[in-house]
Amino acid sequence: MNADVIHERIENAKLKAGRKDKIFFTAVSKTRIIEEMREAEKFSCIDFFGENRVQEAENKRAAFNDSKLQWWLIGHLQANKVRKAIEIFDTLDSIDSIELADRVNRIAGEMNRVMRILIEVNTSGEKSKSGIAPENFSRLLEHVITLPNLNLEGLMTVGPLTDNERDIRNAFANLRTLTENAKTSTGLSLPIISMGMSDDFELAILEGSTMVRIGTLLFGPRYYPV
Ligand SMILES: *Cc1c(COP(=O)(O)O)cnc(C)c1O
Repeated sequence: MNADVIHERIENAKLKAGRKDKIFFTAVSKTRIIEEMREAEKFSCIDFFGENRVQEAENKRAAFNDSKLQWWLIGHLQANKVRKAIEIFDTLDSIDSIELADRVNRIAGEMNRVMRILIEVNTSGEKSKSGIAPENFSRLLEHVITLPNLNLEGLMTVGPLTDNERDIRNAFANLRTLTENAKTSTGLSLPIISMGMSDDFELAILEGSTMVRIGTLLFGPRYYPV
């Protein structure tokens, strides 16, 4: 595991993009065992853990009471897992409907929490992907900012499954544009533009990503498909 090599690639892409702002490095620890996560935690360049299943994260989080890193839910959130997800995670990346936003808001209120969230947008239009369609984004945004127990930190997307760099960059550029427009319309600072994974994080940084989510490149191939 060599996170420093990845960090250097992040910094180089940032330089190429002419940027000086901070880019957060999320270690995507789904399917990984505690020992691997402990090793990842030692690298100062890693900012967060990203998990995509509430149940799996719950089991692991119990062994990380002293965790130095925040935990981010990066996968789809099912309605019946909301309470557990609020208990375990610092931020929920995958709010993609008014119903889900309402539910998180209500349960967070019951738990006396203000929950940090991102809105996930399906910028590629691929049916297999979760996320709100770009044309419905502003309706969800306008609703989310009225909910007192949600704290919107930014937007998140998963790039298209293709080798075509132009298509990948277009999807990322779309998320960036949506974020900029949302900042203007809401007055919120929305610091998080979460996009870019092992295969496309450098393109994402060129298009303005402020958070990359990296699994395979850091830990090696996953033990089971997710
Ligand atoms: C699995 C996953 C990642 C990491 O993917 P890698 O290709 O292993 O880097 C990032 N984001 C989400 C939402 C994921 O589910």
